[in-house]
Amino acid sequence: MDADELPPEQAGDHLAAMRHSAAHMMAAAVVELFPETRLGFGPAIKDGFYYDFDLPRPLTPADLEQIEAKMREQQAAALAFEHSKDLPRAEAVAELEAKGQPFKVEIVNDLPESDGPTVSFYRHGSFEDLCRGGHLGSTKELGAFKLLNTAGAYWRGDETRPMLQRIYGTAWDTQEELDQHLWRIEEAKKRDHRKLGRELDLFTFHPESPAAPFLHPRGMALWRSLEDWSREVRRESGFSEVRTPSLVRKELWETSGHWNNYQDNMFVLDDYDHVSGLKPMNCPEEILIYRTRSRSYRDLPMRFNDYSVLFRKERTGVLAGMFRVRQLTQDDSHVFCRDDQVDDEIRLALALVRKQYAPFGFEPRAKLATRPDKYVGSEEDWERATARLRERLDEDGMPSEVDPGGGTFYAPKIDIYIEDALGREWQMATIQADYQLPQRFDLEYRSADGGFERPVVIHYAIYGSFERFIGIITEHWTGAFPLWLAPVQVMIVPIADRHLDYAASVRQALTDAGLRAEVDDRSERMQLKVRDAQEQKIPVMAVVGDRDAEAGAVSPRLRTGDSSQGVALSEFVADLVARNASRELWPVAAETKTETETEAE
Ligand SMILES: [Zn+2]
Ligand SMILES: [Zn+2]
Repeated sequence: MDADELPPEQAGDHLAAMRHSAAHMMAAAVVELFPETRLGFGPAIKDGFYYDFDLPRPLTPADLEQIEAKMREQQAAALAFEHSKDLPRAEAVAELEAKGQPFKVEIVNDLPESDGPTVSFYRHGSFEDLCRGGHLGSTKELGAFKLLNTAGAYWRGDETRPMLQRIYGTAWDTQEELDQHLWRIEEAKKRDHRKLGRELDLFTFHPESPAAPFLHPRGMALWRSLEDWSREVRRESGFSEVRTPSLVRKELWETSGHWNNYQDNMFVLDDYDHVSGLKPMNCPEEILIYRTRSRSYRDLPMRFNDYSVLFRKERTGVLAGMFRVRQLTQDDSHVFCRDDQVDDEIRLALALVRKQYAPFGFEPRAKLATRPDKYVGSEEDWERATARLRERLDEDGMPSEVDPGGGTFYAPKIDIYIEDALGREWQMATIQADYQLPQRFDLEYRSADGGFERPVVIHYAIYGSFERFIGIITEHWTGAFPLWLAPVQVMIVPIADRHLDYAASVRQALTDAGLRAEVDDRSERMQLKVRDAQEQKIPVMAVVGDRDAEAGAVSPRLRTGDSSQGVALSEFVADLVARNASRELWPVAAETKTETETEAE
């Protein structure tokens, strides 16, 4: 329970203490069943805990049941968690070696000097583990829990080291909360965006380019709709779009600080006589644009948006689909402004977040991330900067809480969160006023009195990365996108082959009006075509038969089951054009709700 332990600010958290304690109990149970077990890391994580074990054989589902039963025995026995001893490092290493715990030895050897000369051990019952503390009083206080599954995990995530067996578990205060969580897990499996991406022909992943999606025509249509909306939101607010190169020489990253602080996450390439990196962020290059001419106070604020491709060197072993990719595109925004404009720009950023999320039905919430333990600048500056952000949040009325110590080392920030249909919380945008980069790049503008002043850079992306956002909304709606986002908005279903010509003219009318429509021209029964369109989650079907063709009409049928007959084509098109332009949640909101409610019962 060491390096992976939750950050200190959460150590006091009751749920974290419970999950951390559950990990100890699981380790005790495993050691009881397999005395030769070698223990790895065993932290509390979001919603639960895990522990890595080196075991004589692969675990089976029956083993998990037994381990869980042993944990329940410990729970019933009400064993106290006690701080059993502190040992000088060398003694701790000797004892762990004697006990045949090489991974724990490595953990002790790698602890930073700042952790002090001794290491602590905790005990419950006869099981003792290396630990920093943060437990329940006794095993009896563990609430409702369940072991979930096992997975292979390389020691320290390093594929050259041994593969351990990781057991995941979850623990909650009440049985009801546990049941709710288990429902969410099941529901999330059904909604898995990797599965839906393939079924709905949106995107796929291929081993030839790990951790990077291949967008199919339908996936790209979805992406474009998102991008158009992001552009529209910014264009109306005085942004100008820029585009900056991917391959950038190392000298720029040295100036920006990425070379020292972020190099492990960068793809570094040999570029003839130079060393270059594929960019993980856009800001340093936008700064080069800023610096191409002298700027005056009248030029500010300058607002840039940038949809360039970014590269981050993620390990490819992680199969997280769109949630963790090595090549990503953000709806990235940078504002160069005067210090006296920062308040207005934060106001604008919050307003844009709200505006851009509205058509998704997402209600953003904020966390104000304050000064971390390690920071630069004076305490006074921090207080002022933090108070400013707090004022903006209060003024905006966005629900917010404080994330103590969550700021970066040079500035506080506002993190924006949304909750999806499964009640999962996603961190989305981060809004940050940056005084650091302008200084590193010696940016300036000519002030009203003829002197030079330093601008501030405000960074934010509202979707975050398009890839991750597409993953989130695909699962949120189970692929049933609202009309404005649906890759195919209307599927035209001719009843018989003799209606194909009329179907083509309906498609043309929809296409001319800027809508995305296809004709199902297979010689199949109408019912089958309707069912297929339904399965593809296409929001609107337009059935056309003899009477429709004669009258210049269609018989619309929605994904939700609502249908009508003989609607004039012009009226049908005009209605869809209006709904598409207003980006309303149609025909989707009601359906998602019903689905969730029924499943929850
Ligand atoms: Zn512990
Ligand atoms: Zn930036």
